[in-house]
Amino acid sequence: MKKVGFIGWRGMVGSVLMERMKEEHDFSKMESYFFSTSKGGEEAPVVANGFPKVLSAIDVKSLASMDILVSCQGGEFTQEIYPSLRTCGWNGYWVDAASTLRMKDNSVIVLDPVNRQIVQDSISKGMKDFVGGNCTVSLMLIALHGLFKADLVEWVSSMTYQAASGAGAKNMLELLQQMQTVGNKYGANPGLGALEMEKEANTLIGSMDFPKTNFAHPLALNLLPWIDSELPSGQSKEEWKGQVEANKILQTNKIIPVDGTCVRVSALRCHSQAMTIKLKKSVELSTVESLIAEANPWVKLIPNNKAETLTKLTPAAVSGKLDIPIGRVRKMTLGDEYLNAFTCGDQLLWGAAEPLRCVLGMLV
Ligand code: NAP
Repeated sequence: MKKVGFIGWRGMVGSVLMERMKEEHDFSKMESYFFSTSKGGEEAPVVANGFPKVLSAIDVKSLASMDILVSCQGGEFTQEIYPSLRTCGWNGYWVDAASTLRMKDNSVIVLDPVNRQIVQDSISKGMKDFVGGNCTVSLMLIALHGLFKADLVEWVSSMTYQAASGAGAKNMLELLQQMQTVGNKYGANPGLGALEMEKEANTLIGSMDFPKTNFAHPLALNLLPWIDSELPSGQSKEEWKGQVEANKILQTNKIIPVDGTCVRVSALRCHSQAMTIKLKKSVELSTVESLIAEANPWVKLIPNNKAETLTKLTPAAVSGKLDIPIGRVRKMTLGDEYLNAFTCGDQLLWGAAEPLRCVLGMLV
């Protein structure tokens, strides 16, 4: 059995990965070792074939004794530890949730429902670094897989509505704290009318002592149309990832342009995206719908009606689920080759942990 070391299993992505691996009885197929930068020596989680103590995640020698390392620890950790491991001659498989190695020539971005064969071929060719994609990119590709497979997509513009969890656990909790602060204000002034309350709330979210240590801005009763750092192109780094990562995952011969505006909203763990898709040619809507619906086991086509859209195509409806619903599919008035679509997905499952779980399954 392969020796697999897990780093970052205490974090948000790591915890979801652990949960899924337990549900699917994956631990019985490997020997598991748990590493931590802060909990070395403590009791390890109890899993089948698991080593009972937590090991130090900064002990390169100990890490190098593993056949496979799975890191959900973050980019800084990868930047620091990965080169030391390779320099000391470690030739094992590195599976990572962080973006650090995603665009390197010797890494593969993994997204099982979309590029399983590419991943399989890369393993056969001897590639060693396998990295999960950006959450919005992965969710968009699973939703639109059928159209990409049929080579129908000329370009995509995706306007995102991204959940707080994408910024990390502290940010998710801060959003709830912000909501509670506003709720308390409302509770203390039950007689106020809507406009008076709006004035009070707006003053409150703009005040110095409103809880915003992590987001630096109010997200409750607000939205934040910039995610990640600024690039000279005028894009945010999150927006830049759309095109480069989608094309790398699909291994396109000719770049398919992907661009849009990425926006943080007050959902907790599910990202949504409104997409405008320019097709290479006019295709019947019924054909488009079948291509989308039949592309992979996870995509679910939601008929374009109000009742099903509002019950099945929302962050609240998809939280904790592996299914990726896509709906609002219709021809736009812009022209016969322009499609409208909307998708939602749990960004901690297919957006982060599940692609890592799938590649780990292939490696063991
Ligand atoms: P996270 O929740 O901040 O956890 C990272 C590490 O922080 C943990 O493994 C743990 O390491 C340490 N930690 C410190 N205090 C902790 C506490 N109270 N509870 C749990 N862990 C604590 O990170 P993450 O959001 O899972 O992200 C990990 C990586 O995945 C990042 O590179 C991120 O960019 C990427 N990613 C994240 C998402 C997302 O939705 N958040 C999506 C896709 C990719 P020690 O055990 O060593 O102390």
